Amino acid sequence: MGQAPTDPLVSLKQSGLRVWNYYWHFRHELKMSEDELREVGIEGDDLFIRPELIEPLKQADRAFRKQGYELIVKDAYRSPELYELAYRKRHARWGKKATDRLYNMKDKPHTSGLVVDVNLVDPKTGEQVRMRDPKHDDDGAQTIGYYKDKDDPTSREYQRLQDLLIETMLAVGFKLGVKREFWHFEWPASGQRVVQ
Ligand SMILES: [Zn+2]
Repeated sequence: MGQAPTDPLVSLKQSGLRVWNYYWHFRHELKMSEDELREVGIEGDDLFIRPELIEPLKQADRAFRKQGYELIVKDAYRSPELYELAYRKRHARWGKKATDRLYNMKDKPHTSGLVVDVNLVDPKTGEQVRMRDPKHDDDGAQTIGYYKDKDDPTSREYQRLQDLLIETMLAVGFKLGVKREFWHFEWPASGQRVVQ
């Protein structure tokens, strides 16, 4: 079992939010067995988080629904052991450079239970909304601003969706991470929160 933060964690699924556990769904591609996942704290398609994040996530979800989308959480609390496992597997599959670009092994921000990776869902189809093209665009498309100066309709739509995601998450109190991924949001620890 992973080492849990001192405060209790709650299930996102039981809190009524949409969940899509990245590691669970990609376990075959990442070559992670169900036993390996269980050892680092993942038992199926759910995610866990510190309870104070539930209300801001629901608030963001309500804002997205007004725009015709729904929030889906793809990653939340990660045990330090899950970080190690995921880093090792990604390193083996995609190499050091691609892994280091995304994996903040120094801070391991997801171990706080105060961090989420999110996306939007189109409720009419149930499909996750595409905000980048990983097949055709380079790894830079994982970071904020990649499509900003591109003028084709697809790039403009990706930029619009990323702007909607980021503006809404920041409006409910999240901040961006040091890796500047457009899907990764951190809830400031109580001592750091800026009162507006
Ligand atoms: Zn993240």
